[in-house]
Amino acid sequence: MPRVTFIPGDGIGPEVAWAARHCLDATGVRFHWEEQLAGEGALKQFNTPLPPQTLESVRKNRVAIKGPITTPIGTGFRSVNVALRRELNLFACVRPCRTFAGVRSPFQSVDLVIVRENTEDLYAGIEFAAGELATTQLIMQLTTLSKQPIQPDAAISIKPISTTASERIVRFAFDYALGHGRKKVTAVHKANIMKFTDGLFMETARRVAKAYDGCVAFEDRLVDATCMQLVLKPKEFDVLVLPNLYGDILSDLCAGLVGGLGVAPGANIGDGVAVFEAVHGSAPKYAGLNKVNPTAMILSGVMLLRHIGEADAADRLETAVESILREGRSVTYDLKTERNDPTAVGTKEMADAIIARMRSPRRDETLS
Ligand code: NAD
Repeated sequence: MPRVTFIPGDGIGPEVAWAARHCLDATGVRFHWEEQLAGEGALKQFNTPLPPQTLESVRKNRVAIKGPITTPIGTGFRSVNVALRRELNLFACVRPCRTFAGVRSPFQSVDLVIVRENTEDLYAGIEFAAGELATTQLIMQLTTLSKQPIQPDAAISIKPISTTASERIVRFAFDYALGHGRKKVTAVHKANIMKFTDGLFMETARRVAKAYDGCVAFEDRLVDATCMQLVLKPKEFDVLVLPNLYGDILSDLCAGLVGGLGVAPGANIGDGVAVFEAVHGSAPKYAGLNKVNPTAMILSGVMLLRHIGEADAADRLETAVESILREGRSVTYDLKTERNDPTAVGTKEMADAIIARMRSPRRDETLS
């Protein structure tokens, strides 16, 4: 019986996480769920947004599914999501983006995967606030070392990019491509400007790519040009591997290419540990309204099923999701042509429709 840590999260997290959990249970796979708190609920109950027992549960079970968690802006409180990834060394973030029939999107037949480095870059959280003593000292030292002027009232964020982490993520991207029948890896960077950090990422990617020569094609591109090409010719892309910040931004861009955050699943993967979660955040204004789209979380659950070797259950659940999306009847407001369409159903009702379709598939949609 697979043991899985279940973290509902906050905001819309609990609604979409429970919808996904019900769908996973309905596949017939018998899960042993271990529910743990993180985010606002944990802060209230344990005085910390990421209690040690939550981390311990994921370490022990090695698989978790997690609803989104709010990160307040401009407070000393750092992101729980970033902390979770760092504590568990979940170095790879995998975000597949593909178009579904029935979901309005600017393109048809997009099918690409973002592989984002999760542990360093400007996300490392090495920041110095404007006006503080340490910042003033750092500015003086940097000005001396770099001979570049920095305004004395500047705030500073540090961007570490290492060979170790770059090599690990690029290898992961190539191995993912090989394991999933993908043909090409594109490394994305801004090495023309950030010659040392992005330059190192690019050089490492080029070096690692040589080991996969003849099996998986490789190219590298500048991040700005990649953004333009993605919105012009997304079908040119297959697997993209990126440092942390570009990976974050391009994930949302690619979610937009295929119909929005409501249908974009994801996974954070490390050595022997995986946490599955939607790309979207906690959308606090919709919290508790039973309104938002559960598809991204349910598809994250499909990724979880494949990860634990339950391919048949994954196929059945994914086929049911595709069927309900294609039909466009029992779907949430964001998937209707008019946002205030009164026929839109709630989060729970959409999950129920998916479960019902999984139990009685339409004849033309049964798996062969
Ligand atoms: P968000 O993804 O929460 O929401 C942006 C908008 O996207 C929403 O207002 C809504 O219109 C739409 N949306 C998102 N999910 C949807 C769904 N399932 N169905 C329908 N529409 C959906 O982004 P945000 O507003 O920038 O972030 C809110 C909070 O979430 C912030 O605190 C942020 O830090 C956090 N966040 C958490 C995670 C995570 O837990 N992994 C990821 C991203 C953002």
